Amino acid sequence: MIIGILGGGQLARMMALAGHPLGHRFVFLDPAPDACAATLGELLVAPYDDHSALDRLAQKVDVVTFDFENVPASSLAFLTEKIPVFPPPAALQAAQDRLVEKNLFRQLGIATADYVAIDSRDDLTQALAQLGLPAILKTRTQGYDGKGQWLLRNQLDVTNAWSELAGRAAILEAFIAFEREVSAIGVRGQSGETLFYPLAENTHHNGVLFQTLSTSDDPMQGRAEQQTSLLLEALGYVGVIAVEFFQVGDSLLANEFAPRVHNSGHWTIEGAETSQFENHLRAVAGQPLGQALARGHFAMVNLLGAMPDAQAVLAIPGAHLHDYGKAPRPGRKIGHVTVHCDGRTPAVPDRLLDLL
Ligand code: AMP
Repeated sequence: MIIGILGGGQLARMMALAGHPLGHRFVFLDPAPDACAATLGELLVAPYDDHSALDRLAQKVDVVTFDFENVPASSLAFLTEKIPVFPPPAALQAAQDRLVEKNLFRQLGIATADYVAIDSRDDLTQALAQLGLPAILKTRTQGYDGKGQWLLRNQLDVTNAWSELAGRAAILEAFIAFEREVSAIGVRGQSGETLFYPLAENTHHNGVLFQTLSTSDDPMQGRAEQQTSLLLEALGYVGVIAVEFFQVGDSLLANEFAPRVHNSGHWTIEGAETSQFENHLRAVAGQPLGQALARGHFAMVNLLGAMPDAQAVLAIPGAHLHDYGKAPRPGRKIGHVTVHCDGRTPAVPDRLLDLL
């Protein structure tokens, strides 16, 4: 099959790496001429809302998917008139707006942190009276990797955040003193068949994912799967989804979902019977899904800003280096390392941390 991908970043690149053995070919649409997926298929360089480029893409491919969230909804609507698009555009629209997303979770009976919509300074004052401090102010749209959000601990933080928000629509969320952050990665095929990977336990630095540990026999696995299934069914979903949860005691609070393959699922390339990338493509292409069982215990660490010495990384037993071929820039995700860990508790080896 020829698969079109909106976005030509590392997620598109890893999809293509998984898809070539299945005989799929790829056409990427990305505004950046140096999009890192380009070596694995044809790249159309154009803005995401360029209808003539979208038209060309639709003529070249059998099905379209996407590798990031900020594709304009109108572009997907344009494409769906010509060609199948998976995951469903409604999933992308909900994930693009934190208020719509949180309302959807709540409608489905999925617990979240308390939140209030903020459209004015008065709304913020009232919401602070309701939720108290600390709290987190987040823009409704265009927020990712810790951008567009402010932790409010005192009135000075409130004043500064309000001025930086600069009139954008936002939500205020209660601050959750969580014990762990976990993500459920599931995949739903076109026949409704659904599979889940073992939960991933995530650590963020400055709002950006730093490391993921794959867990096995996680006590929260069943609940996370049940809650994610509600979302998959409601959306008539096809493809891989990632739902991020905060764990507080025995309960899970859904924070957000990504309607795509996810950074916390990169360990599945080496660590699972079928990677998240291959299963996403199988779902999108209408093929049977592959098993999502783990092959052991894995730790994944992101490479941000600079590549470590490849010789030294590869000398670590069980380490697998992924270099996305992107130009290094401070804080930019340019690769990751997955480590197959002995024993029951996965951890990033100190030897690897010393190289970062
Ligand atoms: P987000 O962009 O919503 O995924 O937030 C990025 C990171 O900020 C999360 O992974 C958490 O570590 C932290 N965070 C977000 N929302 C909250 C919250 N309501 N309470 C505590 N920490 C949060």
